[in-house]
Amino acid sequence: AVVTRFAPSPTGYLHIGGARTALFNWLYARRFGGRMLLRIEDTDRERSTQGAIDAILDGLSWLGLDWDGEVVYQFARAERHREVAESLLASDDAYRCYASPEELAAMRESARAEGRPMRYDGRWRDRDPSEAPAGVKPVIRLRAPSDGETIVEDGVQGRVTWQNRDLDDLVLLRSDGNPTYMLAVVVDDHDMGVTQVIRGDDHLTNAARQAQIYGALGWAVPAMAHIPLIHGADGAKLSKRHGALGVDAYRDLGYLPAALRNYLVRLGWSHGDQEVFSTEEMIAAFDLRAIGRSPARFDFAKLENLNGLYIRGSADAALVDAIEAILPALGPARGLPATLPPELRAKLTEAMPGLKERAKTLVELLDSAYYLTAARPLALDDKAAGLLSPEARERLAGVLLALESLPDWDATATEGAVRQFAEAAGLKLGQIAQPLRAALTGRATSPPLFDVMAVLGRDECLGRLRDQLV
Ligand code: GLU
Repeated sequence: AVVTRFAPSPTGYLHIGGARTALFNWLYARRFGGRMLLRIEDTDRERSTQGAIDAILDGLSWLGLDWDGEVVYQFARAERHREVAESLLASDDAYRCYASPEELAAMRESARAEGRPMRYDGRWRDRDPSEAPAGVKPVIRLRAPSDGETIVEDGVQGRVTWQNRDLDDLVLLRSDGNPTYMLAVVVDDHDMGVTQVIRGDDHLTNAARQAQIYGALGWAVPAMAHIPLIHGADGAKLSKRHGALGVDAYRDLGYLPAALRNYLVRLGWSHGDQEVFSTEEMIAAFDLRAIGRSPARFDFAKLENLNGLYIRGSADAALVDAIEAILPALGPARGLPATLPPELRAKLTEAMPGLKERAKTLVELLDSAYYLTAARPLALDDKAAGLLSPEARERLAGVLLALESLPDWDATATEGAVRQFAEAAGLKLGQIAQPLRAALTGRATSPPLFDVMAVLGRDECLGRLRDQLV
């Protein structure tokens, strides 16, 4: 059975690249009826934080990427990692290295002088351990093959070959007895039964070194797929400026998890020219072979458009729920309440079909609901204020009279009255509708005016108009 894993290091937020890696692992597991495991790689005690762990778990849950079984914490398995390092010592596939920091520094220095990467020269590989200097705690190194090739058959990159002479004897266990990342990943993937590794191609060289450890242990190497990293729209490596934010930031910016998922799946993976995928469609179509080899480009405008599409496609009640969820954080600063009183909730639900047509994010949706939630007298934004010239206010006084005498108050009745008034005054509808909108919503743009008037109701509309006439 297929087993994938997402293995983040909890040293920062769950960033967008990590979220995509998690999504691909999740899709692959779901596609083949397998399992996706979650392993928190917290072996680096200095840099791992509980806050980062929480952000990862929250981010995955919010995105709807559920993992199977218990979360595995790598640090808790350190004893097992040591045990495996010892077993490699026992089989002579590893050895103790007593090279001093000064010796290693000298190797680093000559590598730099020759303009090549640092390479441990293997000086303790065949040396008699009885020559070990007193008081020096050794590291344990893999006795890696010194000639021949190491080959990784990668599901995305194809066959990748390394000359073993270019790969030195890597450290498995540090002198303080702690495992290295390289050892821990191999042991954990093996023990967790991982069959398919999917991760960023910044780990490709690690794959070669890990393949050597697998070889020494006589374990089968899982299938590998190293996916190209995400770049910004300008082609440069993704940075904060490009949208390399934590997943929590996308939530706060008003993106829907389904839209973000849909956006992420198309970052580096394609299925013909289809752009919009339901979760079921993604699962059914997902295929490692359709992952490209060049970096995907992050495109904020595309994400926004997709989010708008998902907002328009969402049920009104679901959007009201989503608005309620962001109100406590965003409402008060915008002059809106932190929670929705029942009558406002009802109004918002009624207005939602018009509101959701325009909004690209939940935050825009919230802003567009300003007219519903704001208190009288309305604070007008600059554009709205600009529409209310003395002349325009005069016209509004006339419309007010026409509206006051309406027996029924619904979109048809108010539209009829406003049109009639415009005609009688020899004006275009827009010349009345624009100032009317400004007075009623405090904004120059809004959902369809007569829907707005119906939702606000007679008293509120007439009150807001009178506010602008005094
Ligand atoms: N912990 C590593 C990282 O966050 C990933 C290791 C792996 O996927 O093998 O980059």
